[in-house]
Order: sequence, then structure tokens, then C-alpha cells
Amino acid sequence: MSNEKATIEQLEESFRDRMPSVTKEGKRNWIYAWQPKGKWYTRRTILSVLYVALFFALPFIKMNGNPALQINVVEGKFSILGLIFWPQDFFIFGVGMVTMVIFIYLFTMIYGRVFCGWACPQTIFMEMIFRKMEWMVEGNPNEQRKLNNGPWNGNKIVRKTLKHLLFLAFSFLIANTFLAYIIGVEDLFKIIQEPVTQHVGGFVALIIFTLAFYGVYAFAREIICTVICPYGRLQSVLLDRNSVIVAYDYNRGEPRGKGRRTEENKLGDCIDCKQCVVVCPTGIDIRNGTQLECINCTACIDACNTVMDKVGLPRGLVRYASEAQLADNQPFKFTGRMKFYSVVLVLLLAGLTTLLLTRNDVDVTLLRARGQLFQEVGTDSLSNLYHLNMVNKTVKDIDVQLKVEELPGVIKLVGGHQLHTPAEGQAESTFFLVLPKSAIKRRDTDVKIGVYKDGKRIRTVKTSFLGYTE
Ligand code: SF4
Ligand code: SF4
Repeated sequence: MSNEKATIEQLEESFRDRMPSVTKEGKRNWIYAWQPKGKWYTRRTILSVLYVALFFALPFIKMNGNPALQINVVEGKFSILGLIFWPQDFFIFGVGMVTMVIFIYLFTMIYGRVFCGWACPQTIFMEMIFRKMEWMVEGNPNEQRKLNNGPWNGNKIVRKTLKHLLFLAFSFLIANTFLAYIIGVEDLFKIIQEPVTQHVGGFVALIIFTLAFYGVYAFAREIICTVICPYGRLQSVLLDRNSVIVAYDYNRGEPRGKGRRTEENKLGDCIDCKQCVVVCPTGIDIRNGTQLECINCTACIDACNTVMDKVGLPRGLVRYASEAQLADNQPFKFTGRMKFYSVVLVLLLAGLTTLLLTRNDVDVTLLRARGQLFQEVGTDSLSNLYHLNMVNKTVKDIDVQLKVEELPGVIKLVGGHQLHTPAEGQAESTFFLVLPKSAIKRRDTDVKIGVYKDGKRIRTVKTSFLGYTE
């Protein structure tokens, strides 16, 4: 075996031993990806424009006077579709998390890692913004390689400075938006407009986020997808042979090789041009089969389709397909299993949405006063003392009245006839519930208290009434 052939074979087998981002010596192997051209890249570009626009606009969009989306982990307050969620809504949060886990499991089982290529912020920002800036400033991968390997002359200094300034500026923009998702745009504007000394914490957070994003897009890049992202690591257990993946049709492509196809050489359709490899942002060769590093970006599909067009062979040597379809030489089909799981996914999302939209705007906790039994009221009635806590999850003040349901009782609120709860706040109150002795049939009577706002019952809470029967 010649040395050259041995080296090529070593390279082709290296994917079994190490990631493309790592050299044999254990150093970083920089991935220089070429820009793909084709219908999938066009579709991803259009989608990414919408996605990026939504990412920057969402903190400014208000629903019911609240941010459409805000994840304020500092105060434990979340706004989803304009609905404010508090720690008291932990139940919905728990159901949401379980639903999301099932959703991710089923979604990945059917559609593979399609999220990574089409919707993950890391991929979209990296491939559609930062890599495009890099191509713009440093040129195509060949020019980039030459620049990186060349001496630090004027041209290199200018290009590297410009690229990193652009990266820093865009990272700063992302960091601001990211912070707006946490603290809201109003507080973000305060940090921007007011003296730094008044917002040291917010300012430091902005700097840390900016440097973190800059580090990710300028240096870590595909390492985030291939090593750090936990979803990426889960692929090996979530995918099965029926999952849709970006795949190389080995039945059609092999044996690969350059040159004319003849009866004698029996070559397959893969002309071994490696165009699918040079466009891959994670540096893998899709012809080696499903790999954890594949983020389903479809760049290799476009690259191979362009090659197939040039050599006059049918498109689709690299395409969306499942292992099972490839093994059986079947075209892509939306199978019954995929339809069933898709319906389950839609039902799960519908259930979660219903839970979100039907959530109560107020939470009421009612407890009978400790250590108190009952008091005689006149000759024919008894009273119990209660403590009430009300949480108002809306952005408007709420005034409520309390009424006894189904029993002929009266509620005497201490300090007024209605309870005032400020917007996004809570209120405590104490009241006496007076029941006629004739309505008391047991020592411990079940009572329902209706909470009314503008004459409309918004909640009903249950409690018990202690008394004696005559
Ligand atoms: S193998 Fe293809 S789909 Fe997977 S990451 Fe590389 S270019 Fe994208
Ligand atoms: S682009 Fe297509 S033909 Fe070229 S090496 Fe990849 S799979 Fe083979």
C-alpha cells in the first residue's frame, strides 16, 4: 500500500476516532465551510430572516399590556403570550415541562434533528449571520485559510480587526435583546439611558452576555453543537431507523469513484467530489452514515444536488430519508407512524395551550383562623374567622366581593365590603362568616365562598365552618 493511499484511508477512517474539529494531535481543527447554494439553503435563509426579525421584535411586542415573552428568572415571573405566570403557577410549569420532554422525544423520533438545522438560535445566528459576515470580510474558505496561515501584514490586521469588531457589535445586539427577554425592554432602556453607576449589575450582565456570545460565534462555533449541546448528545438514544435524517443513499452512491461509469467498473452515482463535505459546517462526511455531529442543516443536500445536475444524474443522492427507507430503496414517505405521532404532538401542544389560556387570573388561598373555634352572634347564629390571601396575576388592580354560595350566610369583611388587590400584587384580608344555626347540620360544615368581580364570579373556594347543632 502506498503512503499516499494509506494517508487517505486514515483520513477517511478518522471519523471513527475523533471529531472533525480536532486534529490527530488533539488541537483545534478549524472548519472552513463553503457557502451552499440550492433550494434548501434558500428556504433556510428566508426562514432565518423571519426568525431573526421575531427574535429582535418579541421583547417589544405586548399582549394584554404584558411582554409577549419574558423569562424573568431573577424575580421568578414569566410572561408567555401576555399571560403573567408566578411561582404559584408551578403546576402549569411542571405540566409544560413534562409536555415539552414528551414533545422533544416524539418530535426527534419522527423528524430527527430538524430543529437544529432550522430553528436553533445557535445554528441560525452562526450560519446565517456570523458566517456570512466572515465570508464577506475574509472571503471564501480558501481565502480564509490563506489569511489565517499567512503573516500578520496590513491586509490581515485590517480584515481580522473588522471581522472581530463586527462579531462584537452583533454579539452586543444579541446580548441586549437577550437581557430584554429577562428584565423587559423598559428596564433595559433604563440601563442604556441612565448612568452606569445606577445599574452596575445590569451593565455587568450586558458585558458578560456580549463576551459569551462573541466567544461562542467567534471561537467555539460548531463545538457548541457537537460537544456542549445536551440535545445533540441525546440524538443517539432518540433516533431510530425510521427517523427522518439527512442521509446519503449508499445503495445508489456506492461504490463511489471518479471517472466514467461503465459496465466493467460498476461505479455508483457518487463521483467522490467531496462537495458535500466542504460545505458541512461541522466538517463531517455524510457518506459515513448518521453521525452525532450532523445538525441536519441540509447544506450537503444542496451541494450534492448541484453536482448531480452537472453530471446529469438524478438529484437526491443525499436527501431527507430514514435508514429504513434507504435500506429498502424506498422514496421518502410520510408513514402511518409519523402521522400518528404528529397527531399526538399536535394534541399535546393543544392541551398545553388550553392550560395556558384557561389559567386563572387570580389565586385565592383561604384558611380558618388558627386557635379559633366559633363565636355566638345574637341568639340564632354562629361565626368563624378566616384569613384570605389573594394574588392578582393581571396588570390591572382588582376589587372583589365575597359571597357565601348555597347557604344562607353572610360575610363580614374586616375594614370594608370589598377586597382591593393591586396589579401583579397580592392582598391579605380577614373576614367573619356568619351562618344561622339552622343551616348548621354538623360540627364541621362544608362551605363554598364565591369571589366576585364586577358582579361576575371569577373563583370559588372551599372551606369548612366549625359550629354545633342544636
Ligand atoms: S452532514 Fe449535511 S446536514 Fe449534516 S451538518 Fe453536515 S452539511 Fe449539514
Ligand atoms: S457531493 Fe454527492 S457526489 Fe459529491 S462526494 Fe458528496 S455524495 Fe458524492
